[in-house]
Amino acid sequence: EQWESVQRIRKDRAIPPTNPKRLSNPLSGLVYCAVCGQKMQQIRAGKDDIPYLYCIKNQCCASAKMEYIEGRLIQVIESKLSTLRLQALCAAPPDISPLLTALDFTVRELSKLDARLPRLYEFLEDGTYDRDTFRQRLEAVENEKSALLERRYELEKDIERAKARITRRTAEQLEDVLSLYPALVPGEKNRLLKTVIERIDYSKPKNSKPMGFSISV
Ligand SMILES: [Zn+2]
Repeated sequence: EQWESVQRIRKDRAIPPTNPKRLSNPLSGLVYCAVCGQKMQQIRAGKDDIPYLYCIKNQCCASAKMEYIEGRLIQVIESKLSTLRLQALCAAPPDISPLLTALDFTVRELSKLDARLPRLYEFLEDGTYDRDTFRQRLEAVENEKSALLERRYELEKDIERAKARITRRTAEQLEDVLSLYPALVPGEKNRLLKTVIERIDYSKPKNSKPMGFSISV
């Protein structure tokens, strides 16, 4: 009963945080109750004003200390990172040879096209082409060239992307989170977490031990 009245008082006083610098819940907007699907809220309780996460639905999931949930989350991120590192070690490097072949072909087509240009002018000069035919041929070559240039640009981008390797980028993001997290204020923690996590589902049976909750990320 005391818990509930504290909740009510807190709720009445609650001012929605708009400025991320003032945000006091590092997990704001990220944690959902696995039982009822509601977003979990932060509440401060006890004489030391310790932050807890709680489900706003009555008699739903039990609350847990924010500190414990954050600790568990860091463990989850660490284990995801190890999995990614392992995958990166075991995975074969991406096969970009078809892209390289396509790029090589495009580059050769471009130089063939460039070689054709002077011939067009020769044909105009020696009278093989009249002005109209020359203009048409020139325009056709230029159109073909801009299409090939665009293709070359796209292929170069694709090759770059394939080389960057998605797993490595994700692993680096997770490393950043792990190294930066402890030193940040709640609003910054929240923004950082949202770069790698969309949703955390939380559950904790009533009357379970303080750390008897589970989260899935
Ligand atoms: Zn709930």
